[in-house]
Amino acid sequence: MTTNRRTFAIISHPDAGKTTLTEKLLLQGGAIHLAGEVKARGQARRARSDWMKIEQQRGISVTSSVMTFEKDGIIFNLLDTPGHEDFSEDTYRTLTAVDSAIMVIDAAKGIEPQTLKLFEVCRLRSVPIITFVNKVDREGRECFEILDEVADKLALDVCPMSWPVGMGGEFEGIYEFASGRLTQPSGGSKEYEGKHSLHDGLDAESLTAHLSERGLAKFRENAELAQMGYAEFDLEAYRNGDLTPVYFGSALKEFGIEEMIGAIAAIAPPPRPQPSDQGEILPGAKDVTGFIFKVQANMDPMHRDRIAFMRLCSGTFKRGMKLIPSGHGKPVAIHSPILFFAQDREIADSAEPGDIIGIPNHGTLRVGDTLSEKNQLRFTGLPNFAPEILRRVVLKDPTKTKQLRKALDDLSEEGVIQVFYPEIGAQWIVGVVGQLQLDVLISRLEAEYKVEAVLEPSPYDTARWLIGGDDKIRAFMDINSALMAKDRDGVPVFLAKSAWDVGYQQEKHPDLKFSATKER
Ligand code: GDP
Repeated sequence: MTTNRRTFAIISHPDAGKTTLTEKLLLQGGAIHLAGEVKARGQARRARSDWMKIEQQRGISVTSSVMTFEKDGIIFNLLDTPGHEDFSEDTYRTLTAVDSAIMVIDAAKGIEPQTLKLFEVCRLRSVPIITFVNKVDREGRECFEILDEVADKLALDVCPMSWPVGMGGEFEGIYEFASGRLTQPSGGSKEYEGKHSLHDGLDAESLTAHLSERGLAKFRENAELAQMGYAEFDLEAYRNGDLTPVYFGSALKEFGIEEMIGAIAAIAPPPRPQPSDQGEILPGAKDVTGFIFKVQANMDPMHRDRIAFMRLCSGTFKRGMKLIPSGHGKPVAIHSPILFFAQDREIADSAEPGDIIGIPNHGTLRVGDTLSEKNQLRFTGLPNFAPEILRRVVLKDPTKTKQLRKALDDLSEEGVIQVFYPEIGAQWIVGVVGQLQLDVLISRLEAEYKVEAVLEPSPYDTARWLIGGDDKIRAFMDINSALMAKDRDGVPVFLAKSAWDVGYQQEKHPDLKFSATKER
């Protein structure tokens, strides 16, 4: 069984420093040689390898979807979770393909809304989380305040693994408890330049030689409190998603990066068993299996190509292998997989559990599909997420209803949008978690289905899947028919006018579950 893969994602609110941290991880992992490459997505750095050529020919930017680097025998697969304006269901679903996550928090801002949302998705699958409190080179909140906020808002045990000596203008370095390692800034810009010293504990005499008297006194006091006041590190609690180890650092000035890579290597789980309708599938199982968690359409509308991203769950994948998609059962030979694990991103010939394979196809592979050698199982637990933006679709040409229905069914199957067909009235509703999905919807309706439509506001704020006995659901639908719809699979959905509405109905109907996720 392979244990040297670490497949993870970084979750954060925009501006917390995810891009900077990614860049520095790749830099220290040796995957890129120039900082700044991550942000320069898709610009002026092309055609270096076959892999890049594929990207160019197909006009698909997959460069930043999976970033792989190898350090000390460990292969790190870092999956991008687009934030900002790209925020979409893909962001959520990517988290179903990782074994662990790093949560980046801005030391001045604490837990922000998007961090919380992404965290909740991680919790659904008990994805273990390492916390990185970023920007300690600037004035931030008290470390204790941040730790308490993480503990309270996320209901997690927290375990500080390192501690900053001062913050902002008084920043003198970071001390890692377990190793007794102190890393310090040097030079005018106060960047980390590889300078560190080892000390044997907080009481060590040797610390006086490195830190100011005042800084050291305060640091000792706080660090002691920190070690006494919080949970001890417990590997099992972390891996179950009940405890988060917390590291402090500065992505910009490169503090705490080595510790982060070290932590992922040492404590983050290797490929985890995956839930399926045949029970848990162990990564060591012989047959090749995987699931599609993301489909990226070609940016060139004249091409019908798509890249489906498969997470390999078991077996050793070899180039040219035939796998059967659960969607239609016809084997697909995978001749030109995009494998991300080679350091220079050349096309490679095999992949192991935990790796991600990009499969070019013409729309035959769908989000949620299982691929396997013998069509023997289905992976479960790849959910739909309650939409946060709901819009009415209005056709410009009313004779195109049929085409619109087909398009909405197709695009929802692909995971671009979710569609809801109200019980009463003929106005179809689309739901998304990010604005970008709506733009994609309109442009693809026009380009691929020749349907012109506009999106109008709807009275709904969110949607919940109803779970419970058939009778109970029917009774609920009878009273609330004006707020009921069916999703693409015919499952009843409650369209809520506000989050308050959801809470109210839940209280009134305790025997029904108003679920914010739906397993495919
Ligand atoms: P993202 O939106 O989460 O990807 O955040 P970015 O990595 O783009 O960072 C947002 C801003 O914060 C940028 O201006 C960064 O230079 C800055 N930043 C990131 N990390 C640090 C840090 O450790 N210290 C300071 N002072 N600024 C940082």
